[in-house]
Amino acid sequence: MTERKRILITGAAGFLGSHLCDRFIKEDYHVIGMDNLITGDLRNIEHLFKLENFEFYNHDVSKFVYVPGELHYILHFASPASPIDYLKIPIQTLKVGSLGTHNLLGLARNKKARMLIASTSEVYGDPNINPQPEEYWGNVNPVGPRGVYDEAKRFQEAITMAYHTFHGLETRIVRIFNTYGPRMRLNDGRVLPAFIGQALRGEPLTMFGDGSQTRSFCYVDDLIEGIYRLLHSDYAQPVNIGNPDEITIKQFGEEIIKLTGTNQELISLPLPTDDPKQRRPDITKAKAILGWEPKVSRSEGLKITLEYFKSLPEHEINHKDFTYYNK
Ligand code: UDP
Repeated sequence: MTERKRILITGAAGFLGSHLCDRFIKEDYHVIGMDNLITGDLRNIEHLFKLENFEFYNHDVSKFVYVPGELHYILHFASPASPIDYLKIPIQTLKVGSLGTHNLLGLARNKKARMLIASTSEVYGDPNINPQPEEYWGNVNPVGPRGVYDEAKRFQEAITMAYHTFHGLETRIVRIFNTYGPRMRLNDGRVLPAFIGQALRGEPLTMFGDGSQTRSFCYVDDLIEGIYRLLHSDYAQPVNIGNPDEITIKQFGEEIIKLTGTNQELISLPLPTDDPKQRRPDITKAKAILGWEPKVSRSEGLKITLEYFKSLPEHEINHKDFTYYNK
């Protein structure tokens, strides 16, 4: 039997981190999950604890990180990732993207591991061009409410690239566009869980602004496949992974109303500061370099996600306060 490859996944109890744990377990890796459980939830990885090739550390990666034994790969997915979360915990958001990334790059160097970081379409800010190719430098307000996330992620890309060029570390950068699926937090404030939660509770759907802003939603399985391929590629420059199927938030609300069959109305609330007006990934690079493109349509993905949200305990569906954290 060949030795299992060992991979550290930070943010392991979160939405994307937990799906990554599942994927690498399926590929017979030894998976070391790490999370401080501020926004993560152990229920997302509960099923893995019984496995001999899974272990978990409750640790904040903004502090010195050490893992005994060999490490072949590190995936850095620890970070609050919804506007509501990073407005509530702005300093932690800045620290995990900056100090946390620095610590993990040091660990990767020490272990001679390949490191992949989770970057974001937020590096493009409120983009002046649509769709956004990787060459676009973005339009970000550093001192606005989103600045804590956007600038942490931009710094994260910069320091990762510096370790690559200066230390010769093997690095990969994925720019993740809006992604959804089972294990999203129903109350993380993002538009998809917000709309589905409201529809299930029989409340009007809260559309911000006139709903003419656009997003492009990618189903989680497609995203995980793209990340898996990127990690195993030899490409160190950033790669967009997302679904280019763009929709206005108003149309999206109407889709959710139809999907849930709830007949709710859409009401308009003020648009948050610096809310991007348009967002759609240019995935030419992902197609050419990784042979990747999304396979799951929004209607298929939304059905699966709705079933997941409906399966949650009733008190969670009815809990609409965004202030709920695990600690
Ligand atoms: N949005 C909305 N109603 C909500 C939550 C969000 O209309 O209850 C809008 C938000 O203003 C943005 C879009 O939906 O234009 C996506 O917001 P989200 O917080 O999901 O993520 P973002 O893509 O802005 O990071």
